[in-house]
Amino acid sequence: MGVSLAPPSTAVLGDRFARELPELAVPWQAEDAPDPRLLALDEHLAAELGLDPAWLRTPDGVRLLVGTHVPEGAHPVAQAYAGHQFGGYSPRLGDGRALLLGEVVDAHGRLRDLHLKGSGRTPFARAGDGLAAVGPMLREHVVSTAMHALGIPTTRSLAVVATGRPVRRESVLPGAVLARAASSHLRVGTVQYARATGDVDLLRRLADHAIARHHPAAAQAERPHLALFEAVLDAQARLVAQWMHVGFIHGVMNTDNTTLSGETIDYGPCAFMDAFDPATVFSSIDTGGRYAYGNQPVVMEWNLARLAEALLPLIDDDQEQAIALAVERLGTFRPRYSAAWTAGARAKLGLPESTPPVAAKALVDDAYALLEQGRADHTSFFRHLGSVARGGDAEPARGLFPEAAAFDAWVARWRALGPDAAAMDRVNPVYVPRNHLVEEALAAATAGDLAPLEQLVDVLTAPYDERPGLERYATPDPGDPSAYRTFCGT
Ligand code: AMP
Ligand code: MG
Repeated sequence: MGVSLAPPSTAVLGDRFARELPELAVPWQAEDAPDPRLLALDEHLAAELGLDPAWLRTPDGVRLLVGTHVPEGAHPVAQAYAGHQFGGYSPRLGDGRALLLGEVVDAHGRLRDLHLKGSGRTPFARAGDGLAAVGPMLREHVVSTAMHALGIPTTRSLAVVATGRPVRRESVLPGAVLARAASSHLRVGTVQYARATGDVDLLRRLADHAIARHHPAAAQAERPHLALFEAVLDAQARLVAQWMHVGFIHGVMNTDNTTLSGETIDYGPCAFMDAFDPATVFSSIDTGGRYAYGNQPVVMEWNLARLAEALLPLIDDDQEQAIALAVERLGTFRPRYSAAWTAGARAKLGLPESTPPVAAKALVDDAYALLEQGRADHTSFFRHLGSVARGGDAEPARGLFPEAAAFDAWVARWRALGPDAAAMDRVNPVYVPRNHLVEEALAAATAGDLAPLEQLVDVLTAPYDERPGLERYATPDPGDPSAYRTFCGT
């Protein structure tokens, strides 16, 4: 079922989620946007989704992007989910300010959700106003665009539209809607919600829907739902290893913000670490440091344990047997994460395949010890090492450390192994969304000047290619980065 989005467009909005899982889908519509204005549009993504970028810029196109133009036959829904937030269980979260417009088949033949955030209150809104402000929606646009360009699985931002509606936060801010594409919006919290209903048939339909959309090989396994768990676990182990290697801190790794697809989702208080310190936290609400940089792998393991619990009735009729099987699979998270992390760390140091594992491990461990002792800038360190590998000027890398002797000794050992500088440059970005630059671009955009935002997005779209004149984007905050704070749910 579906309907064509617009005459020049070939895309069709389907309603597979709502049809297969009606218990998790509340039909709903977006709130009116008094004066919608397009602030950002990813034209490549639009084309990939089968949407005509020129049409999306028309009044009807912009109204589609805020949910007020619902193509005939489309059935927007608010999705139900539960979740552990900072360790405490909330049985009913759901899309409080978001809607799933429907699914499109993209240019690669894959099903992608088209979803809105900030589109007004829904039955899941609780005390919230259902709205979102321009700044945080543009932050998601910038950071998710950067993550995609870095090669990290993520939901994507198609567009941000200012609604013309004021949003009351600490001050009155301009409102916005983010149009987001994702391979789905199925979360660990979706499975928790289905499990909590006590309806095993619903749980099974949800799990089968997830298998079909994300992990089709699991359908062939002897125990498909155990295989689904393992596939999610594997995808998330790899994802978190990738986050760690670019210094990304998600900031709010609640189970409702953990996907079954293995895509990064819900860019709230996220930020990139500058000075290397595993204890780094930017989120103003994460006072206990639960979601600190260095905790992300164990938090993901904890979230996956919650997924396993929710899936137990599908794993085996005998509860003891189901638990034993789930625990055994959960035990594979650490070795999978370690393998992904170690392979990534070796690549960041450009170590040739022939490097013996013991020597590689010692070099990697010592590099991270140096980084931590020196509180060196994570992104600059690895990128500058590429020049050192080439035999170029070591000063930019050396200069990141208060004293050079330990660094020089490490470099001598490392260079003796013949690191591959070109390979390093393909995995160590020059440009990540530096916190002060993101803030600067969002503040300008909120005040009506989109130029810094557009420039920043342009830089972040090619993060591995060093371009002259962009030095500012490759440099840490000249102020005090440790004072940086990010805010959630705004
Ligand atoms: P988040 O922390 O953004 O992942 O959101 C957690 C939950 O709070 C989800 O159920 C959201 O839909 C809901 N929520 C966040 N902000 C708002 C808001 N302004 N209005 C209604 N619901 C919200
Ligand atoms: Mg969320």
